[in-house]
Amino acid sequence: MMLYKEPAPIKDRENPFESMMSRFNIAAEVLGLDEETYNVLKSPARQVIVNVPVTMDDGKVRVFEGYRVVHSTILGPSKGGIRYAPDVFLDEVKALAAWMTWKCAVVDIPYGGAKGGIICDPYSMSAGEIERLTRAYTQSLVDIFGPDRDIPAPDMGTGPREMAWLMDEYSKTKGSTEHAVVTGKPLVLGGSLGRVEATGRGVMVSAMAAMDKLGMDPAKSTAAVQGFGNVGSWAAKLMAERGVKILGVSDVSGAYWNDNGIDIEEAIEYKNNNNGRLEGYKGAEQMDPDDLLTSKVDVLVPAAVEDVITIHNVEKIQARLIVEGANGPTSYKADKIINEKGIMVVPDILANSGGVTVSYFEWVQNRMGFKWTLDRVNERAERIMNESFERVYAASQKYNVPMRIAAYIVAIDKVAMTYKYRGGF
Ligand code: GLU
Repeated sequence: MMLYKEPAPIKDRENPFESMMSRFNIAAEVLGLDEETYNVLKSPARQVIVNVPVTMDDGKVRVFEGYRVVHSTILGPSKGGIRYAPDVFLDEVKALAAWMTWKCAVVDIPYGGAKGGIICDPYSMSAGEIERLTRAYTQSLVDIFGPDRDIPAPDMGTGPREMAWLMDEYSKTKGSTEHAVVTGKPLVLGGSLGRVEATGRGVMVSAMAAMDKLGMDPAKSTAAVQGFGNVGSWAAKLMAERGVKILGVSDVSGAYWNDNGIDIEEAIEYKNNNNGRLEGYKGAEQMDPDDLLTSKVDVLVPAAVEDVITIHNVEKIQARLIVEGANGPTSYKADKIINEKGIMVVPDILANSGGVTVSYFEWVQNRMGFKWTLDRVNERAERIMNESFERVYAASQKYNVPMRIAAYIVAIDKVAMTYKYRGGF
């Protein structure tokens, strides 16, 4: 068995905002976007930097830097998660906010885009410290957030627990219970059935739609999933249920491979009983994490962080299909080689939009004061994902561009048209 090796450092981490803009520029040119609209869409509408003091368990006060970037409110209130990570930075949050704008437009839900982040290491903090941090961050952004203004959600390092604290803190300030100020809440607090698995489910639906176009039989196909957090583990489980053999998975503890297919249910159970990590999982051989992305599989699902498919490994990728569960997993420079190799990519702003779609359903249910069944949530989300896939696929045929640029075209076209109708600001 191979010993655990740290994943290679990112050698050419591109600036994520510039990476997003490079694709935006290509799509804007294909669309013939006018200069006024281009200028409106190219910069975030609002960027807020906060510094929040938090009393740590040892009694000392630490000051944390946090961000909330609202990229656009043209389609409606801005929507997007909050990321807790030690290396989160403003240009990353700006890119993630813009991706939310395009994502909501691709799936045709009435939201603009936003994203938040706090520089912190939630895995080395106590629950009490994270709670105080979340409440302090919410207090400092109480004038930005709002059910009709800006609606946060979970992202990397946050989940239902943090959303509950956010909702409670916001509600206390307003003096009324405000369920709809945030999505991804626990079920008992107005969360939606199906929200937790929604992003992974959408990844599976997109993968099935793409395989259909490529004439691939799921029951005869293999896949590797990079990242075994919420998105990756659900995508792997649901793809396996449709017959896809998942040969490799990875998380921060390493990468795991089984020629006969990994028993995903078992791997998830192992991870849940092992502090969320696959470390020590015996149902597969350990492999070099760098090799997972270039392994011999039909479908590759990067479901972790940005910039993992780069000019350093793209040549070696063997998959025919890449379905982006993460936001921005492919660097801009790698796009060209992917296209030359004839690999189909279901881009992030389409493939992982199932999460925000069910966030929208949660917000709708909160405002109706009514709860949908799981079947209703899944059925509607699946319909939206399939319709969006077809819209993007049709645009890729019409403009003769890859799926990624087609998704930007669909999104920018929608936002630009709405901007025109609203008559500017
Ligand atoms: N953070 C998730 C994303 O990147 C979900 C956002 C939301 O539900 O608002 O899509």
